[in-house]
Amino acid sequence: MRTSFTSEAELLELVAEAGRDLPGWMIAREAFLTGRDEAAVRDEIARRLSITRTALARGFKEPQRSVSGLTEGAAAKLHAQVNPPVRDELWNRALAYAVAINEVSACGGRIVAFPTAGSSGIVPGLLWAWRDEREGELSASSPRLQDAVAVAGAIGAVIAARATLSGAAGGCQAECGAAAAMGSGALAWLASGDAGRAFNAAALSLKNSLGLACDPVAGLVEVPCVKRNAFLAGNALVALTLDSAGIRSAVPFDEVVSAMKAIGDMMSPQLKESAEGGLAMTPTGLRVKAAMEAGFPDAPDS
Ligand code: SF4
Repeated sequence: MRTSFTSEAELLELVAEAGRDLPGWMIAREAFLTGRDEAAVRDEIARRLSITRTALARGFKEPQRSVSGLTEGAAAKLHAQVNPPVRDELWNRALAYAVAINEVSACGGRIVAFPTAGSSGIVPGLLWAWRDEREGELSASSPRLQDAVAVAGAIGAVIAARATLSGAAGGCQAECGAAAAMGSGALAWLASGDAGRAFNAAALSLKNSLGLACDPVAGLVEVPCVKRNAFLAGNALVALTLDSAGIRSAVPFDEVVSAMKAIGDMMSPQLKESAEGGLAMTPTGLRVKAAMEAGFPDAPDS
């Protein structure tokens, strides 16, 4: 089985040659690469989806508070909001779910890197919000939800092959930006069953996060990361909305990813996870860094 590809075009050609649909081919590829059968790959996807659902529940049930104090139960606040200014439930759930999962990540809890820890709330937040609002019969063991994960994986695999999924190499466009592209594509596939629509939504989403810096305060994956998971989940939903209206990205997905790579290469190392620029160098950022170096003496349990 030929398993390598570096573009949407190449990937969709392989899928067509094999006579499978996109998620089916991705699952067959994973089975081939890992020496398992397709049922075992689906079991593994189900296991990982369940981990994200557990993290989501934990983020709401136990307001997450980190030693730094930078993470302090934002998901619980979103969840408790009785009169949100925006009344769309898919929107509100996706934002709150993304934050809940990422707060658990920021506090050292168990999550799934999706594609990274810093961006771990976006894809599962979107998928579970879709499930809870649009298709209540889905579960971690549903082939349809597993297929959506495989579509997200296909989009992430092209980004990894053409550019990077690392904030240290490409800035946050490569982490949260990539996650939003993966999530928008997964939802577009759930909405349409069309691989081309999935990549179109991904292109629309990724274009809107090009140039996003990685400048975490004190080098901790908390600020801007946790709240950015909500913002980028929103980005993915905007892309989904545009795609569903028949709006095409003027620049195709493969070219958007190449632009992302070029922008990442042009970005200063100060804006690529070194915590030497941007928000990390604000007076607040430097105060948090000094507190961290002193062992967070004001932390509640210190
Ligand atoms: S700001 Fe940096 S550390 Fe935070 S999620 Fe983005 S890439 Fe990851």
